[in-house]
Amino acid sequence: MILHRVAALLAMAVLYAGVAAAMAGPDGPVPGPLHIVGGPNTGGCIAGAVSLPPEGPGFQTIHLDRSAFWGAPQTIAHLELFGREAAAAGLPTLLMEDISRSRGGPMPGGHVSHQIGLDADVGLDMRARPPLSSSQRSTIELRGMVRPDGRDIDPGAWSPAVTSLLHMASALPDVDRILVNPAIKQQLCREVSGDRSWLNLIRPWYGHAAHMHIRFRCPADQVDCVQAAPPPPGDGCDATLQWWFDQLDAPAKPSAPYKPPPAPIACKAILGGG
Ligand SMILES: [Zn+2]
Repeated sequence: MILHRVAALLAMAVLYAGVAAAMAGPDGPVPGPLHIVGGPNTGGCIAGAVSLPPEGPGFQTIHLDRSAFWGAPQTIAHLELFGREAAAAGLPTLLMEDISRSRGGPMPGGHVSHQIGLDADVGLDMRARPPLSSSQRSTIELRGMVRPDGRDIDPGAWSPAVTSLLHMASALPDVDRILVNPAIKQQLCREVSGDRSWLNLIRPWYGHAAHMHIRFRCPADQVDCVQAAPPPPGDGCDATLQWWFDQLDAPAKPSAPYKPPPAPIACKAILGGG
C-alpha cells in the first residue's frame, strides 16, 4: 500500500519534472527523479525540481525574473497548501519570493541556503491589497515589519494577521524551522498566548524583516540531503533571543569577507550539465 503510494508519488514527480523541464528550456531542471545533495549550511543542488506556478489559489509568485521559483515537489505542494489555507482564513494573497534556481546551487546575492529546493521566502506584509500586476511583481520590494533600529517591530506595518500567518506556516507539513528577524520573534513571544509550542520552530536570524524563510526537512528518501539538528527545546523566548539584541549594542567586529562553501562534488553533474 505504502509502496504503491510511493510509486505513484514518484511517477507524479517525474511527470511534473518533465513538464517543468519542457517549460524551462536548456537551463531548466535536471529531470527527475528527485535528488537533493547538500544542506542548508553547506551549499548544494537539486535534480528533479519542479516550479511553483506564477499564481495559484491564495498566492502570487514574485520576482519571476530571478528564476528562483524551483523546489522539491514536496516544497511546492506545501507552498500551494499554504496559499489555500491563507485564502480560506481570509488572509491577503501570499507573495512567494525566492525558493531555489532550477538546479539549485548558489543564488545571486550569496545566500548559503536556498540551494537545495527546501527553502522558501514568503512575504509577511498582511495589509489588504489588490493582486499585483506583472510589472509590480517584478519590481515590488516587500515591506519590512521592523523598525530601522532593529529593536522592535514597526507598529505601522505589524498586525495580528502576521502572527496568524506565522502560526499557519509552522503547521505546514515537514517544516524544519522558520527564520524571522529577532524583533519579529520578540513580538511573537509577547503576543502569543495559549499554545506556544509552535514558537519553537520560529527562530531569529539576520535580516528577514519583510519575509519569513521557511525551511523544510530533508525528504526521508534523500540520503544525500544533510538535515540540520532540530531547534533546541522550548519557545526560544529566552537568553538566546536576548543575545540578538545585545549584538546591536556590541561594537562592530571586523569580519572576514564572506566566502561561500564549495558545492558538494556530487553537484558537479547536476549544476554543470544535463
Ligand atoms: Zn530566505
